[in-house]
Amino acid sequence: MYQTLAEALQWASSQLVEISDTAKLDAEVMLLHVIHKPRSYLYTWPDERITSEQSAAFQQMVARRAIGTPIAHIVGEREFWSLPFMVNPTTLIPRPDTEILVETALNLPLAQNAKVLDLGTGTGAIALSLAFERSTWQITAVDKVIEAVALAKANRDNLKLPQVEVLQSDWFDAVNQYDFNLIVSNPPYIDEEDEHLSQGDVRFEPQSALTAAEHGYADLFHIAQSARDYLAPGGYLLLEHGFEQAITVRNKMIELGYESVSTVRDFGSNDRCTLG
Ligand code: GLN
Repeated sequence: MYQTLAEALQWASSQLVEISDTAKLDAEVMLLHVIHKPRSYLYTWPDERITSEQSAAFQQMVARRAIGTPIAHIVGEREFWSLPFMVNPTTLIPRPDTEILVETALNLPLAQNAKVLDLGTGTGAIALSLAFERSTWQITAVDKVIEAVALAKANRDNLKLPQVEVLQSDWFDAVNQYDFNLIVSNPPYIDEEDEHLSQGDVRFEPQSALTAAEHGYADLFHIAQSARDYLAPGGYLLLEHGFEQAITVRNKMIELGYESVSTVRDFGSNDRCTLG
């Protein structure tokens, strides 16, 4: 079938071209994971022979990818904010779009000892990226899913950011501080009827991280409503949402009494989050 690294890549790409727009990249990521080498190795030593053990592991990975399993689940990792996050099927795989939330939060005029809450933290991507950039912020991350809490804690330990507190809580239910300077969340916001849910990689992610009732607005609205009781005077709420939800979220926040409500676009020019 193949003998060398270059041939293995060629073979895998041809297996994946039907199901993935990024077949060649997928093949590279999996092969590098198997041979434990940096990317440049494939280009420097394309004629290196692959061992039979490596080949068996690689073929298993390619088979999983061929049925649509996300690359992040296969290699157990995804980069976010240039940091490595362990991922598993119990939470959302961090998306590059969400980096705009981190960037927006970092640009706020917050004190050195700002108190920050991340709701529905999943892998911990938002909370831990903020902690990485602002070591003096007091950051709490919560998730209602116990496996997500464990994963966020594992990422916290792996990234050596022990100052971040991780709690199990269904939104605010177990939160007992009322003076946050910033509350951030990337909650589930997809309409339960959305046809995209039955296509592609998203099928392998949990519904609990993706969909919400009321056409995707239930959790966004619940958080916006409750957050008012947990924010310090002058505190900020920053929510990620679908790009077509910006006006509705904005109007809801204004109705709830938030001031200076503004929409922030992501790097793909989509209205991705709202700040108030
Ligand atoms: N933006 C993600 C997607 O489209 C969904 C993230 C979320 O629901 N919070 O797959």
